[in-house]
Amino acid sequence: MARYRREPLVKLFIAAFLTETNTWSPVPTGMNAFKLDKPFHRTGGSLKPLDGANGPLIVWRKRGEADGFGIVESISASTEPSGPIVRHVYEELRDLLLDDLRQAGKVDGVLLFLHGAMVADGYDDCEGDVLKRVRGIVGPDVPVGVELDLHCHLTDDICDNALPVIFKEYPHTDTLERAEDLYGVVRDAIAGTTKPVVALHDCRMVGMWRTPVEPTRSFVARMKALEGRDGIISVSFGHGFPWADVAEVGAKFVVIADGDRGKAAALAAQLHREIWEMRDRTVTPHDTIDAAIDFALAAPKGPVVLADVADNAGGGAPSDSTFVLRRMVERGVGNAAIGCFWDPIAVAFCAEAGVGASFDLRIGGKSGPVSGAPIDLRVTVRAIVENHTQQGLSGGRAQYGRAAWVEVPVEGGGGIHIILTGKRQQVFHPDAFTGTGCTLSDKAMVVVKSMQHFYAGFAPIAAAVRYVAAPGTVGADFVGLPYTKVTRPFWPRVADPFA
Ligand SMILES: [Zn+2]
Repeated sequence: MARYRREPLVKLFIAAFLTETNTWSPVPTGMNAFKLDKPFHRTGGSLKPLDGANGPLIVWRKRGEADGFGIVESISASTEPSGPIVRHVYEELRDLLLDDLRQAGKVDGVLLFLHGAMVADGYDDCEGDVLKRVRGIVGPDVPVGVELDLHCHLTDDICDNALPVIFKEYPHTDTLERAEDLYGVVRDAIAGTTKPVVALHDCRMVGMWRTPVEPTRSFVARMKALEGRDGIISVSFGHGFPWADVAEVGAKFVVIADGDRGKAAALAAQLHREIWEMRDRTVTPHDTIDAAIDFALAAPKGPVVLADVADNAGGGAPSDSTFVLRRMVERGVGNAAIGCFWDPIAVAFCAEAGVGASFDLRIGGKSGPVSGAPIDLRVTVRAIVENHTQQGLSGGRAQYGRAAWVEVPVEGGGGIHIILTGKRQQVFHPDAFTGTGCTLSDKAMVVVKSMQHFYAGFAPIAAAVRYVAAPGTVGADFVGLPYTKVTRPFWPRVADPFA
């Protein structure tokens, strides 16, 4: 007897392809970066465990299947932020996705997880390039939804070809929630219950907005409250990614409305006025290295968490700079921990010497001038951990490779405890340290190489959190960034960019 299988009435195409490009990073991005970091795969429906890249895909598959839709799944490719992607690597990955889309035949909706700040040799706006080509394949009427990191360069090519829904939280604790939101936007558009239109609004501001603290906390709540009523479908604030020499760098709003672009544009302009009004209160103060150490030493109790933001691998930095460690050693700071240094050579030496060994080790400063000079220290190996991991932002485990915990003795006791890793990654969670056996609750000072993603995990254990203005690839001096392609004025380089 012939068996008939009914084709699903609605077919969705889903994929993830993302990295954040720091155009001034000394770390190149080739195919190996994508393969080593989180192997991209044609998953055929069996997604690997949750991680930052495939979380949204898991959400979309689950929701789509619950609605009885067919799902065509393409690549899930991502890597740690670094320098521009080698051109042929970008084109190869992009074309894998596009070929899958062509082979899928007629689709009713597309859901993509992209970053928004991906740059390749010859492509300053990779996402705009991908979305323009996707639009070319599916035609003008198929809803194309894109989830972006809020550290994105929003462009006309993105907003003319897709419906962007952007993370609202920094740290990015809402990747999966926004995936849910985007699914709803695209599903309603497919069903014809909404006619989404997009308005893009340029704030001409370059900065960072930390959402756990006021006044940004309330602003995020206000954006959420505006959604799903009065014809407004979705409200997003793209903070921008300052560390990229691209023309469209900076903060922008995207509003999706039901049929009324004028309404979307008016709300975007209103939200811009609000974020502009609070600009002086949203700037994060940074301490000099010595002021931060002074603060920690004077604190009545620890641990004081110091963020070495400029060496944040999550922003493309090498994560092996020695500026803060050098001052700690020079000042004889004890009872302190610092990590994580990306230093596979040092890790290999520690593993070879073995736990308990004391020897002279050269640490950090290997990636380039941005990392400072290497520092030579007499260390004792306290632990070696194969396949070290830490808790990631979306609940999965983030990989550090082989790691070593070493201690530098300090006069008066306490020591400086250093975590060295084989893989480059920002610190998300205290178990980046404690997973090696290095305790934190008994330390006076803990230095994390991270911009802000450490915050959710460390705030509960920190007596205080301070941000440090050390030299590095992801420094917070937005006025001095060496842009060559931005033609419009921006705050804070000028007091009023619309004057
Ligand atoms: Zn981000």
